[in-house]
Amino acid sequence: MANDMVMGIDLGTSNSAVSLWIEGRAVLIPNKQGDVLTPSVIGLDDNEQILVGKSAQKRLQSHPHLTQASFKRFMGTNAELSLGTQTFRAEELSALLLRQLKEDVEAWLGYAVKDAVITVPAYFNDVQRRAVKTAGQLAGLNVLRLLNEPTAASLAFGLLENKEHKYLTFDLGGGTFDVSIIDMFEGVIEVCASSGDVRLGGDDFSEEIYQWMLKQHPALKEVQAEIRAPLLEQAEALKIALSKGGEASVSLRWNEQDWHWTMTEQMLTTCCQSLLTRLQQPILQALHDSRFTLNDLDDILLVGGATRMPLIRQTVARLFGRFPRHDLNPDEAVALGAGVQAGMVMADTALDDVILTDVMPFSLGIETSKRNGAYYESGYFLPLIERNTFLPVSKMQTVSTVEDNQKIILLKIYQGEARRVQDNVFLGEMTIDIPQKPAGEVDIDVRFTYTVDGLLEVECRYQGNPEVFRLLIEKVPGQMSEQQIEQSLLKIADLKQHPRDRKENRILLSRCARLYEFLLGEDRYWMDQVTTEFERALDSQDLRRIAAIRQQVEQFLSRYEGDSH
Ligand code: ADP
Ligand code: MG
Repeated sequence: MANDMVMGIDLGTSNSAVSLWIEGRAVLIPNKQGDVLTPSVIGLDDNEQILVGKSAQKRLQSHPHLTQASFKRFMGTNAELSLGTQTFRAEELSALLLRQLKEDVEAWLGYAVKDAVITVPAYFNDVQRRAVKTAGQLAGLNVLRLLNEPTAASLAFGLLENKEHKYLTFDLGGGTFDVSIIDMFEGVIEVCASSGDVRLGGDDFSEEIYQWMLKQHPALKEVQAEIRAPLLEQAEALKIALSKGGEASVSLRWNEQDWHWTMTEQMLTTCCQSLLTRLQQPILQALHDSRFTLNDLDDILLVGGATRMPLIRQTVARLFGRFPRHDLNPDEAVALGAGVQAGMVMADTALDDVILTDVMPFSLGIETSKRNGAYYESGYFLPLIERNTFLPVSKMQTVSTVEDNQKIILLKIYQGEARRVQDNVFLGEMTIDIPQKPAGEVDIDVRFTYTVDGLLEVECRYQGNPEVFRLLIEKVPGQMSEQQIEQSLLKIADLKQHPRDRKENRILLSRCARLYEFLLGEDRYWMDQVTTEFERALDSQDLRRIAAIRQQVEQFLSRYEGDSH
């Protein structure tokens, strides 16, 4: 009867979470530590076994060369991120994280799942979106669709029920700040504009508090190198404690001495003033690009763990002149929205009459020359499609030759916002032959067409000639080839997982736990014995011992499980 279960996944820069649509609502699924948020951190332990989540995060400061965090920033690039002697692409590290989330869900459900909806920032370009899909593929997932994070938030807040709604999502995560303006009408969800700061997040507030703590006890400045990790942990604790308002204290034992700090909300505000100021610019930018005014907005949605800080809520309230909505846990909203979407996919209503329209997150254009006296200076960017234009879009521009008797035109295509092409991303180039004439006498029409699938088609013709030259840009730098994906699959399969983390063992353990709850008396006693023995075998990491006991556990379970259903 039931369709296959679909997971809704928030693959975050700092934390990830997964939810399922169960009995008419999205439910967050806890990981094996019982937390619904899994830190997006991957590491290797001293036996070269993969660590995912909290266990990896704990070693971030103590074993930096064996740990990677914030790799989402590198999605869609060729960056090589190292773990010990091995290097990984961001897709591969994301895949390890996704695989863990998948296994957590499987351990919780007791059966295998494959289908998923994954959220992405609204500003992610096509290469980055493809990278997320590739990561899913590497993790053994079937990625049914990608959902914009602000759209997911609106689903979680239940805004879909409204006929018409304009709102802004203010998403302050661990290391990034995203602002999106959404216009929802007649079942159409439009991301009208997105903006943000990729170097601003909750962790910057912890860093400011850390600096303040050093100033309070200058003696600690000299031992900064050693003390940074534990002190930063206290700074984070202070930040979180201050979220309950009033004042908060922390202390640290160092060199046989106790060091104390007490911070009030007021002190926090003063200490983070410059960060608060930086929140304004992206909001103004998004409003400007969307051509909306503050009064046009029906709601401000707070998303991202850092918006739990009262300081941020007050700042938002002041900036917008009203109170934002925060009736959901801000760091869970995106995953919950992904679960709502997953539910729709399962029920086959799949946002049926909701059409998602998207905007082009970056400007696209060509290289052009500027006249400088008698010369032309090349290297300038001429945007053809400006950022935040609705998709699909097609735009034409006419350019002319700059030299006498020019024989060819070299069209170089770039993506970005910078004035000089060298600061933008090169996408491709095409050359066309033109008739030789005096400078400025050959006019060339260049047309850019960007489809909803993220393909850019460049068409070019010179006036007076009906022939059209075409270039399709599909493969952009930073995208993995089929062959690379094949290799990554093998590489990931080869990485060692702790036996306790292996899928088959975790499913078995969760079956044991469930049966234990069902049984009574002596049976229950024996269930406990068997489980303990299995756990000890797993901890021993002795594969032969594990295999032997696994069989016994299976037998034991099959003897009883018929009754428990
Ligand atoms: P991301 O979307 O980047 O994965 P999250 O939405 O999970 O990140 O936000 C993580 C940030 O939220 C971290 O900087 C963390 O310190 C901060 N945070 C989480 N809970 C609280 C809290 N109670 N008070 C203040 N900051 C918090
Ligand atoms: Mg997030």
